[in-house]
Amino acid sequence: MARTNLWRCLVCGYIHSGDSAPDFCPVCGSAKSDFEIYAEPVAAAEEPKVNRWQCLNCNYVHEGSEPPGICPVCGAEKEQFQAIQESEIIVGSSSMKIVIVGGGVAGVSAAESIRKASPDSEITMICTETELPYYRLNLTRYLAGEISRDTLPLHPESWFLENRINLIRGVSVDKILSEKKTIVLPGGKEIIYEKLVLSTGSHPYIPPLQGTSLEGVFTLRTSEDADQILERVKKGCRVVGIGGGILGLETAGALARQGADITLLESHNWLMPRQLNQKGGDVLERHIKKIGVNILKNAHTREIQGDKKVTGIALQDGRTIPADMIVLATGVRPNTSLARKAGIEVNNGIIVDNHLRTSQPDIFAAGDVAEHNGLVYGSWAASQFQGSIAGLNAVGISTRFGGLPRSNTVKALGLDLTSIGKFDPEDGSYIVIEKEGGNSYVEFVFRDGRMLGAIMIGHPELATPAKKAIETKTDFSALLKSNPSCADVAEQLR
Ligand SMILES: Cc1cc2nc3c(=O)[nH]c(=O)nc-3n(C[C@H](O)[C@H](O)[C@H](O)COP(=O)(O)OP(=O)(O)OC[C@H]3O[C@@H](n4cnc5c(N)ncnc54)[C@H](O)[C@@H]3O)c2cc1C
Repeated sequence: MARTNLWRCLVCGYIHSGDSAPDFCPVCGSAKSDFEIYAEPVAAAEEPKVNRWQCLNCNYVHEGSEPPGICPVCGAEKEQFQAIQESEIIVGSSSMKIVIVGGGVAGVSAAESIRKASPDSEITMICTETELPYYRLNLTRYLAGEISRDTLPLHPESWFLENRINLIRGVSVDKILSEKKTIVLPGGKEIIYEKLVLSTGSHPYIPPLQGTSLEGVFTLRTSEDADQILERVKKGCRVVGIGGGILGLETAGALARQGADITLLESHNWLMPRQLNQKGGDVLERHIKKIGVNILKNAHTREIQGDKKVTGIALQDGRTIPADMIVLATGVRPNTSLARKAGIEVNNGIIVDNHLRTSQPDIFAAGDVAEHNGLVYGSWAASQFQGSIAGLNAVGISTRFGGLPRSNTVKALGLDLTSIGKFDPEDGSYIVIEKEGGNSYVEFVFRDGRMLGAIMIGHPELATPAKKAIETKTDFSALLKSNPSCADVAEQLR
């Protein structure tokens, strides 16, 4: 008799229940070989035939016998593509009224999976933004002038019509009346749902500093924000960026390209402290300085100065920096208020179970707004995959999300930087193999023969094999016995 096991897709976190892994992941289309056993091991997976390739950075899917030379969406190199195959068509409930609140990647992915699984369901998607849903992660490339505005939409308007998705733009949902199973729009109009998907994303966190509402203070979350920044930034304009994480760095790099005189403040003593160790942060800093961004570390802002308009910034140590413009990149917070008001359980994000179901049985949440196993991912890939999974569950196809390894790739800075998983071992039970060059740095972190994390700066060719080795828990025990160098590990990865 066939045994039932759980299988986790290493690419999107989908959990499949069955005697063997599915031929293709119904959520992201990954091949059978991309599944790992989630409970007890069973027979090995078959090698798939490759005809689609997914960009590991932005998840763009390319069709063809080979990956493209460069990702047309995010500019990632060929090596950043991973083979996938056509997903199987799965069929859910024949007809349902489904409302999706939020038109980001999570909402659109939910709509895609609902339409695929349930051709007759009624889908309504409502979003505050007036734009067609777009590649939010590409706003820094747009800001840098690398891509034009017309490349931002995820789908053209005709796609929504063809797929019978009633897209309502420029409207914020006011309330959820869960006992009546309706949502309420401003002005009181009510829309009935049978299943509701909340994918309301997040908003920039504004630190409690004096001066944040002065003219000339910006955040970057929407295409409208990007347009406003572009309107204001002129050659030689003095800009101070607050926050040396990925978004702050990419924004600073983009504004340097626009000719701004930019200074980036980081409160830690190296850049990207949540993704890099100090050595990696130092290599990154040297590169960032070369592209024209001044860096001030250990810089704690006291206040933003100005009367009506920004004139500068004062630091806690007494220094002041003159500025015509400030860009805050101090983190994001999930948009949970709609859910909170409806009595849905919320911690940092809306709490969801493995089916991405909230504390109310007919309401699902996905993307930046969702908290799964204590984690709010805040990443493009997690939002996309969660959106697809929430959509499938909404139409009655029981689908589970099993988590994803953390992985970050920097764009728009002219530097190949990827950080995956663990990079800061806390004790001697880890083996760290690293190598620093002028503009490059590689660190591999192992424990019990397995690679748990890696930092790769200036080595794009290692990013995909390292990600795969971490995800598939490749055994490096034999190699590690020979006290290998970074080059030896890279050789085994290749
Ligand atoms: C500039 C920038 C660069 C980024 N780069 C990367 C990157 O390189 N890699 C990466 O992994 N991630 C990146 N991210 C993060 C990534 O873009 C997000 O994790 C992802 O877009 C989240 O998608 P989402 O659908 O959950 O939410 P969002 O994209 O935030 O969409 C939320 C939607 O909900 C709508 N909404 C909110 N409240 C309501 C309401 N009450 N009624 C109706 N609609 C509502 C909004 O209008 C919006 O349409 C970047 C983000 C930014 C801003």
